[in-house]
Amino acid sequence: MVAIAVDLVNALTPGEARGRPYEPPQGAELTEAVAQALGDRWARRVTAREAGELAQVAVALRGVFEASGRGDVDAAAHLVNGLLAETDARPHLDRHDGEPWHLHYHGTGGTLAGDYAASCATGLAVVLGGELHDRLGVCTAPHCDRVYVDTSRNGTRRFCSTACQNRVKTAAFRARNA
Ligand SMILES: [Zn+2]
Repeated sequence: MVAIAVDLVNALTPGEARGRPYEPPQGAELTEAVAQALGDRWARRVTAREAGELAQVAVALRGVFEASGRGDVDAAAHLVNGLLAETDARPHLDRHDGEPWHLHYHGTGGTLAGDYAASCATGLAVVLGGELHDRLGVCTAPHCDRVYVDTSRNGTRRFCSTACQNRVKTAAFRARNA
């Protein structure tokens, strides 16, 4: 769920990505980007309305990564609590479509965006409430504000991607040899 939150934020919020200005896709490309972020198991086509709602969810989720990235865990926690309350997130076991019992986090609203907002907020709450609470961040490379969750063993990640890591390494190398 945290990985989905990362994908939603990076695909659907404007800013900068890997050295270039980034504008989220529009129209059919937006629904495609949403479907991709939610993963293959999301077989049903996402509607334009749902994609638009999820873009708003992504903006709210970004705030959590930004607060956490600047070391303000209190702000991140308050934002997540707000999202949990707003989305009526609560865990319950569900069984459908021939799957075994599994945990859902969404409330009773029943919208795709609401369900994913609740699930992502719960995922971020688990991270912030655990020993990996400092693992949500924003890329520190120049001209990039894509977000990440640091799943490395020693927690030293600073970039959204190897692309940004390489950009920074190359720049440092050039600076040393100038
Ligand atoms: Zn980056």
